[in-house]
Amino acid sequence: AQHFLARIDAHRGLNAFVATDPEATLAQARAADAAIAAGNAGPLAGVPIAHKDIFVTRDFPTTAGSKMLQGYRSPFDATTVARLAAAGAVTLGKLNCDEFAMGSSNENSAYGAVQNPWDATRIPGGSSGGSAAAVAARLAPAVTGTDTGGSIRQPAAFCGVTGIKPTYGRASRYGMVAFASSLDQAGPMARSAEDCALLLSSICGPDLDRDSTSLDRPAEDFGRSLNDSLDGLRIGVPKEFFGDGLAADVRAALDAALKEYEKLGARLVEISLPRTELAIPVYYIIAPAEASSNLSRFDGVKFGHRAAQYGDLLDMYKKTRAEGFGDEVKRRIMVGTYVLSHGYYDAYYLKAQQIRRMIADDFQQAFASCDVIAGPVAPTVAWKLGDKSDDPVANYLADIYTLPGSLAGLPGMSLPAGFGDSGMPVGLQLLGNYFGEAKLLNAAHRFQ
Ligand code: GLN
Repeated sequence: AQHFLARIDAHRGLNAFVATDPEATLAQARAADAAIAAGNAGPLAGVPIAHKDIFVTRDFPTTAGSKMLQGYRSPFDATTVARLAAAGAVTLGKLNCDEFAMGSSNENSAYGAVQNPWDATRIPGGSSGGSAAAVAARLAPAVTGTDTGGSIRQPAAFCGVTGIKPTYGRASRYGMVAFASSLDQAGPMARSAEDCALLLSSICGPDLDRDSTSLDRPAEDFGRSLNDSLDGLRIGVPKEFFGDGLAADVRAALDAALKEYEKLGARLVEISLPRTELAIPVYYIIAPAEASSNLSRFDGVKFGHRAAQYGDLLDMYKKTRAEGFGDEVKRRIMVGTYVLSHGYYDAYYLKAQQIRRMIADDFQQAFASCDVIAGPVAPTVAWKLGDKSDDPVANYLADIYTLPGSLAGLPGMSLPAGFGDSGMPVGLQLLGNYFGEAKLLNAAHRFQ
């Protein structure tokens, strides 16, 4: 823990961490030492990790990347935080992210952008940008992130690390500051699939009393089949993921990775996910709709920011929310309330839900002829800081390959698969069928 705390201090310029508290960290480390000495150490005893600042923590402040929660301290730990602590992990601090996890570049954080450790002039990806940058810069051996529409997979790809988002419902959402509740999932990011498997085994499991969408599916040892042979594995390659929008250098790296899989005994099968393009409009209706509802709790009454000067109650709400939320969050609240409003609900929200179902059905059809699906995580490597910060739609379009799996609730991961022309890392996305996490980790581990 001391080693990593020193590295965090030496690399403050990356802006990956938004909160550290060496005393709190070292107290947790001593408790882990005591557990080891007493012979009841958990599987992660003494392993230093860090949490995306979307997870509420008792020992550290929680901001969700927003000015709205500046100075907020939760009276309880998120289930993911509590489970990793119970396994013996030691918390180094909290990691920068896009405000309320809304973004693809980490530039929407109220606490400033994060630098990509491979090239400080580039974004680390988002919304779990601080998480990915911390692992890439060796500021933590493993971290947590959250993925609503790609926020674990895309920053992992852009920073050359490995990350996995489990099947929707396997990781508890309790204590994760809510963005889009039907999509939000927690997951680990680390240097290898093997390390991800270790963390994921502690994170997953039912939390039925605290999360109404938690699945009653027992925890598993996701590392049990890491070394299984890939002989005969059918890898589905969706033709829609390799179309015009994909940069040539990313495509070249992925083609090489797929060849490598063939050498490992896998068989490539062409598949079709015909509604891939529709995932963008569908997600950017459903996610803002849910966000507009979830964010109504930030009213200046119960917690977080409250405007200093105001007239009546309505004025207090208005000034508090105008001051506390950033531009992207306000944009999503406006889109969300619009698509849910009387007269537009049928045309937008209901239609989006219908197409969401069709996207999930397309995957089931695809999985009839393959075991896992492989493709890009993002159309390009990490872009330059500032390049898309004035263009929300350009950010949304770059989510095209991660959104379909999110809408279907499927497990997905990103693993490093070479480099683009600029020398920046390229990620390979693997998508599995429901509860296919162990298969994904096996496929990633054999490749690594
Ligand atoms: N980039 C997507 C968005 O802005 C996904 C973010 C996420 O997964 N949290 O909504």
